[in-house]
Amino acid sequence: MTAPQKTAPPLDPVFSDSRNVSRFLAKNDPLAVLSQELGPRFDDYRRRWDLAKSFKLIPPFPLHVDYELRSVCNLRCPMCPMATRKDPPAPSGLSLPEVKAMIDEGAENGQASLGFGGLWEPLTSKDLPEIVAYGREKGLSEAMFNTNGLLLGETVAKELIQAGLTRIMVSLDAVTPATYAAMRPGSDLGLVEENILTLLALRRAAGSRLPLVRLSFCLTKINQAELPAFLGRWQNKADFFSIQSYGRFDDEAPPLFPDDPSSPAPPSGRCAQPFKRLMVRHDSSVLPCCDLSGLGLTLGQAGQGLQAIWDGPKISSLRDSLQKSPFGALPPACQKCQTKFTPAKP
Ligand code: SF4
Repeated sequence: MTAPQKTAPPLDPVFSDSRNVSRFLAKNDPLAVLSQELGPRFDDYRRRWDLAKSFKLIPPFPLHVDYELRSVCNLRCPMCPMATRKDPPAPSGLSLPEVKAMIDEGAENGQASLGFGGLWEPLTSKDLPEIVAYGREKGLSEAMFNTNGLLLGETVAKELIQAGLTRIMVSLDAVTPATYAAMRPGSDLGLVEENILTLLALRRAAGSRLPLVRLSFCLTKINQAELPAFLGRWQNKADFFSIQSYGRFDDEAPPLFPDDPSSPAPPSGRCAQPFKRLMVRHDSSVLPCCDLSGLGLTLGQAGQGLQAIWDGPKISSLRDSLQKSPFGALPPACQKCQTKFTPAKP
């Protein structure tokens, strides 16, 4: 690992949202790279995604489905609402046959992408590489997930590359062990950095540009001074970055960090998540989005079939509210949601 630079040359912004929650920075537009690598099926999927994003299309089946494989995380980060909640759920998860059956249903009906976002750590599931491979073999264009990177060892990295993972988003918020320990207590900065570099080396050795590697930096008072050095350390290695301002999920919660300036954002647009995606939680409940606020919007249980839920009255009424209603008429969960009214991310 080279010594951190004090300043980083500017990167080209390819995305920035109106609330400055996230800034995506990259040398190459990630979507352009994915288009080159994945071809016309990917282009068609993104065309449909853009139409759904602007309320011009309700696809016959969600274009993207997130499967929360387990309700388990190997860390307890102070900014994570799941780690700090007083009533953590008992560990549970989706079985391999359940997930495969849902992928079968999606592949037959136009699903184009699968993710393992959820609210927990996907790499705690030993089934992850097999599920990625299954989805890609079934013809889905994309497979992606967010991770804290601690369990991203050489073996699983090889398996994920072979399986056809297209994007991986690793949370890495510091360049010094002390700052990282404050942000990610119990993790190991050196090991996570080594894991990312190993993945990049394995990808090179495989002659592949995928998975694209995004590093996600959660900007707080604790680590903001390290952002230039972070970009200097990684900008010629990672494919793109997301710099995300820390924001409290609940405006009634006390500030996590001294002088935390975060507050609920005023509405500035409309949310199109239920036009594009579903999320299946570890307990098989199905949500219309991947936002924490969506926990208050359960649409049904996966056993009903995702098609029935996608075509059902609950999501239809939600779409109607989001598309047409004034802000005050939205369901309470949506009114509390902090990330809803920003433009969709790449
Ligand atoms: S506004 Fe927020 S909670 Fe409501 S559907 Fe959109 S992302 Fe989910």
